[in-house]
Amino acid sequence: MSKRMQQGRPMIVMGDDAQRVKDKDAQEHNIQAARAVARSVRSTLGPKGMDKMLVDSSGSITITNDGVTILEEMDIDNPTAEMIIEVAESQEDEAGDGTTTAVSLAGELLKNAGELLERDIHPTPIITGYHLAAERASEEIDDIATSIDSTDVERLHKIAETSMTGKRDELDKEPLASLVVDAVSAVTIEGEDGETSVDRTNLLVETQTGRHPADSEVVDGAVVNKDPVHDNMPRSVEDANVLLLDARIEVTSATADPEISAGGREALQGFVDRDERELKEKVQKIADIGADVVFCQRGIDDLAQHYLAQEGILAIRRAKKGDLEILNDVLDATIVNHLEGAEEADLGYGDVTRDEDDELFYVEGEDAHGVTLVLRGSTDHVVDELERGVTDAVDVVARAVSDGRVLAGGGAPEVEVASRLRAYADSVSGREQLAIEAFADSLELVPRVLAENAGYDSIDTLVDLRGAHDDGEIHAGFNAWTGSIENTFEAGVLEPAHVKEQALTAATESANLVLKIDDIVSAGDLSTDKGNDEEPGAPGSGMGGGMGGMM
Ligand code: ADP
Ligand code: MG
Repeated sequence: MSKRMQQGRPMIVMGDDAQRVKDKDAQEHNIQAARAVARSVRSTLGPKGMDKMLVDSSGSITITNDGVTILEEMDIDNPTAEMIIEVAESQEDEAGDGTTTAVSLAGELLKNAGELLERDIHPTPIITGYHLAAERASEEIDDIATSIDSTDVERLHKIAETSMTGKRDELDKEPLASLVVDAVSAVTIEGEDGETSVDRTNLLVETQTGRHPADSEVVDGAVVNKDPVHDNMPRSVEDANVLLLDARIEVTSATADPEISAGGREALQGFVDRDERELKEKVQKIADIGADVVFCQRGIDDLAQHYLAQEGILAIRRAKKGDLEILNDVLDATIVNHLEGAEEADLGYGDVTRDEDDELFYVEGEDAHGVTLVLRGSTDHVVDELERGVTDAVDVVARAVSDGRVLAGGGAPEVEVASRLRAYADSVSGREQLAIEAFADSLELVPRVLAENAGYDSIDTLVDLRGAHDDGEIHAGFNAWTGSIENTFEAGVLEPAHVKEQALTAATESANLVLKIDDIVSAGDLSTDKGNDEEPGAPGSGMGGGMGGMM
């Protein structure tokens, strides 16, 4: 959250000839802005959610169903709306999934808070009630959740599939889910204390355009998408000694030194000789410590490339920082910052294999700790969405393994928690009770929207779901594939409990932050397009235009 939001009662200050709205008007204002953002992503929720096409100012197009991508690409210029977008971003960072849920819930919490404000209920008991309800909801989620562990491959597979659901229909989820589960198990560590953790940083996702998604694979070790710097270098080196270098293989002083041109031909030749000598020494140093392969994060001078080729050393320049880091783990090497100080002990050891068709290097260490998921697709659009979907699934499965709790999807936990919150509300006195009930109502947005997006009647669905839960069916949810109310846990619609918990917490925190604002001082025009419950038109243009002038 931005700083100005953190200090107690925030006030937004902008410009000199400021316009000012206070109290109820300010709240109304912010609620409208937040709801507009929530509305813009709601239609993408669930497996039958729609895709959105985003066109940025340069005309480049993104087609996506991913909440956080949509919000990040939209050109939104409104502090309240930005707070809601921060919810999506923190949800993405924390849980890797559940962003649309978090943002939609925040919008619904604010809508229902708005109705309480209309009834002259002060924001303070609403904020307290929401806070109480969120805490209670977390406890109830924990109660409803089922334990799983890293050996529960079938359920992990379902978790991966559920997370990828709705992200581009042409994706073949079955095999991708298997890849995700394989990749996560490869970096899962069973601690001696019985704690399971996932070394997420050693699981890389690399994308490659030009082949079919079915050719995606999990490979041991790292994959580096770079070419050798010189044609006369070996392509593959087995049992290689590998130098990881975060320093230039270039001359330290520039030849473009002004003194040179002043010094005439002879002096110039002197400098050229000196440069050649320096480069030769650098390459000699690399050869002396016994390196067969160099992954260099920086530049390699043309002449040095030539010398390296002469020494039979395979060299790659401008490797990504992240590549060097994973190579470091995979090869058990030390990244060298100064070539002068490099020694044999810094080298890593493993196989470097070139795939000429794909123009990739596969690097595998001896007891490789680290895997790479190589995703393939025919076009950039397919690969991008594949990457987003699979990366989310990796995070989600990793989280499920380390957290060890799983929930049924399709709105089942929301309806169950809502029902338990209503019972809890009875035990709370004062206006907070109304807020807890409003919170429960807000949770039921999830099954309503899931049904609506799948083309079913949201009210009927909700009524049926409530009935099932009243009869004690805690896993009764809406299955978007069949359109029926069923035990979604058994149907294999599974989600990690952590994602849901995080989404509820993030939504509540941001709604409460918005509710705390009771004073807006603004340089701009404060007119809103309130009352418009329509989807904003084309994202990017619609949002910017509709809300840009609000504050
Ligand atoms: P988010 O960004 O919040 O993860 P998604 O578009 O991924 O949004 O939708 C997640 C919601 O879709 C969850 O509530 C999940 O339970 C639900 N869901 C996933 N698969 C199904 C299904 N087959 N039927 C009904 N709901 C589903
Ligand atoms: Mg999702």
